[in-house]
Formats: sequence, C-alpha cells, structure tokens
Amino acid sequence: MRPNGIIIAIDGPTASGKSTTAKQVAARLGYLHLNTGAMYRAFALLVRRRDHHGHDPQRVHDLLSEAEIGFNSAGNILLNGADVSREVQEPDIALLASELSTDPEVRAKLVEKQRTIGSNGGVVLEGRDIGTVVFPDAELKIFLVADAGVRAERRQLEFEKMGTHIPLEELRQQLEERDKRDRERTISPLRKAADAVEVDTTNLTIEGQVERVFELAKARIV
Ligand code: C5P
Repeated sequence: MRPNGIIIAIDGPTASGKSTTAKQVAARLGYLHLNTGAMYRAFALLVRRRDHHGHDPQRVHDLLSEAEIGFNSAGNILLNGADVSREVQEPDIALLASELSTDPEVRAKLVEKQRTIGSNGGVVLEGRDIGTVVFPDAELKIFLVADAGVRAERRQLEFEKMGTHIPLEELRQQLEERDKRDRERTISPLRKAADAVEVDTTNLTIEGQVERVFELAKARIV
C-alpha cells in the first residue's frame, strides 16, 4: 500500500466521461484528482501564446523549460502560476494539445510531473496513457468508452454551459480527429491496458458511471 492510498488510472477517448467520473470519485474518496489532459492543454496554451503554431520542434522544446505547470488547491490548472482553466477549454487549444502530445520530449516532462504528484497514492489520474505508461502498476485501471455521437453531444452541452454554441458535426469531427491521432501515435498511444476494466458510459447516467468506478475502487482499498 502507498502512503496516501491507491492509484486509480482512468483512460479513454475524448469526452468518454473521464473528467466527471475522476472528479467525483476523487471527492468521494477524499483523493486528489489529477487531470493530465489539462497539463497538455496548458503547455499548448503557452506554445500558442509564444509561437502561434507549434510546428517547429526546436522552439517547442525550448518552451518546455519555460513552462511551470501545476494545480492549485482547488484543482485548477496553473501555467506559470496563473489559473488558465478557462483558456485551456478552447477547441483550438485541445487540437494543439493533441498535436504536441505526439512529441516525446513534451510527454517526458509532463509524465515526470504526473509521477511526482501521484506516486504516494490517494489519487485519481485521468488521461490517455495513465494505466499503460504513467502508472502501469496502478491498483485500479478503468478504460471508459462511449459512442462518438453521444460524446459529441456531451461536449456540445459543456460548451453551451460556457455560453458557446458549436455545431454537433464540427465537434464530432474534432473529437474523431483527436482520437485518431491519440490512437495512432507511436509514443504512448491511447489503448486499454490489459488489466483495465472497460466501462461503456453510452447509456449510463453520471451517477451510474461514478457509482460503478467508486464500487470498483472500494473493492481495491483494503
Ligand atoms: O483529456 P483532454 O481532452 O483534455 O486532453 C487533450 C489532449 O491531450 C488529448 O487529445 C491528447 O492528445 C493529449 N493527452 C495525452 N495524454 C494524456 C492526456 C491528454 O496525450 N495523458
């Protein structure tokens, strides 16, 4: 057993329910919630601010040393000390994060940080490579999936809550583009770990998916 509890790894494609589930399961267990996607997005935000496109690997690598990425006590993502949780939600930042996440040096820096924060346990991490690469020894691994149409609808609802309307077809295209890149990249591709439990959230309510993961977690915490 680790000092603060177990490590729960939640992986899966875009908008499969990872953030909602990870956040609520962490709150119920009194665990830390670590959204690793937000870290890739924060770095993408820095690249966009400084560089605009991110297509020059040398420039991207130079920017890595300027990026201090972390979380405040409320779990909001910080870039060089500033809360950027709203800016990182923008669709073009998500796409740039997906492009930059194929770079081994970018991944190495962020994975090192994730391991530093999580290795004592008592943490729910969500991402694409948590159960396969970041913590292959996690005590519980969940792989969330859901139909692409349902995932696009969920994303649309999230944007609508922030006051932005984006057509469903556009959102579906964006998430399929990101998923394809995440699955096909050579380094740390999105895939289900052999020992992960797959949970299909297409027909589950939020309460239902949280309950399922919470029960699996309780069974692993002795
Ligand atoms: O989870 P979220 O959609 O916020 O992640 C943004 C992008 O960051 C993903 O599309 C993916 O390319 C990348 N990512 C990753 N590995 C992680 C988390 C996110 O490659 N562990």
